[in-house]
Amino acid sequence: MSQRAKTNEQRRRTKPEMRIGYGWDSHEFKSGIPLKIGGVTIPFDKGLGGHSDGDVLLHAITDALLGAVAGPDIGSLFPPSDPQWKGADSVVFLQEALKRVKQAGYAVGNLDSTLILLKPKIGPHTAEIRQRISKLMKLAPDCIGIKAKTPEGMGTDNAAIAHVAVLLVAKKANKRTSSR
Ligand code: MG
Repeated sequence: MSQRAKTNEQRRRTKPEMRIGYGWDSHEFKSGIPLKIGGVTIPFDKGLGGHSDGDVLLHAITDALLGAVAGPDIGSLFPPSDPQWKGADSVVFLQEALKRVKQAGYAVGNLDSTLILLKPKIGPHTAEIRQRISKLMKLAPDCIGIKAKTPEGMGTDNAAIAHVAVLLVAKKANKRTSSR
């Protein structure tokens, strides 16, 4: 084996110290259903339609985590065609993604998100969403970015969109102590 080939083989076997993940999701507003964003129910006269509870932010976080460990995406793991996910709490999807991150030997370092929606205003709910995600992901609130914008000129006034980036950090292998 050439020196170059060896180096490439070693590179494949070395677990990256960090991994980045990116997720995106959108859902259309519909009347008569509760609005859930980031695991928080937000008072509004419409909610986000979808097969599950339509939580656009938790879906984008889930896909970002799955992408970071090169896993299947949320639609492959929880197909909308499967009746068992009808009306499902999106926390279930997030938990599966977190389990896969852990199995891959990583912990979440931080996440950042941007929501794009015309109404309602997200600012008054940012702290609650951050707290909820902090609890769900066992991640410090100051490692969770929640930003919101209106869809100026995008023509998506009846939808909510979420973009999420996550950083995973490799967990250190258990070190043997010298006291044994
Ligand atoms: Mg979705």
